Amino acid sequence: MVVERTNRTTRTKEVGGPMAKDWRAAGLCKGSDPLVFYPPSEDDSLAEEAKTICGMCAVRQRCLEFALSTREKHGVWGGLTERERRRVLRQRRRSA
Ligand code: SF4
Repeated sequence: MVVERTNRTTRTKEVGGPMAKDWRAAGLCKGSDPLVFYPPSEDDSLAEEAKTICGMCAVRQRCLEFALSTREKHGVWGGLTERERRRVLRQRRRSA
C-alpha cells in the first residue's frame, strides 16, 4: 500500500517510464485514507473499498508479490487481505 496521492494519467505514464523501478509510486492507493487499506478489524468485508481500488491498479501483481514475499501482516495489498494472503501462501507451499 502506498500512502501518497497520484492521478491515473500520471500513474499510467510512470508504469512504463522512469518510475517503473518503483512500483509503489504507481499505486492507486497513493494518498488514500489509510483506514481504507488498513481496516480496523480483520473483518474482510471492511476491505471491499480497498479491493475495488486494487482491482484497477496497474501494479497490483507486483504489490501482491511484494506483500507475499515480505509476509506483510497488515492491510490490503494487491487486492488481498491478510487472511487471503495467508491462504495464497499455504496453497503455494502445498503445490511446491
Ligand atoms: S494493488 Fe492496491 S495496495 Fe497495491 S499499490 Fe495498487 S492500490 Fe495500492
